[in-house]
Amino acid sequence: MHLNSSKDGKKQSDHQKRTVREMMTGKERNNETIEKQKKSFRDRMNNPNYTHPSKGKKFNEDRLNKMSIQTSSRPKKQCPNCFIIMDERNYARYHGIKCKSMKI
Ligand SMILES: [Zn+2]
Repeated sequence: MHLNSSKDGKKQSDHQKRTVREMMTGKERNNETIEKQKKSFRDRMNNPNYTHPSKGKKFNEDRLNKMSIQTSSRPKKQCPNCFIIMDERNYARYHGIKCKSMKI
């Protein structure tokens, strides 16, 4: 279990699973190790700054404002065929010479 590591959310290959299983099978954890693992887990859960990897991150106000400015300041384009105003990526993909309203 590697919470907060770069392996979060990645699936292990069958080879990886088999290797780890062979390594850990029959291995006994002594009480000290178990207590250490429990303590580490409790500490992580009691930490107010901890975010679960699959629950998403909370951004602060400053960061959200910056992201908002960056998004809204992207250049816009208007399609000459259907006159919709959109960002450059959507224009390049669906409008201009590829616009639906032309292919009637
Ligand atoms: Zn269009």
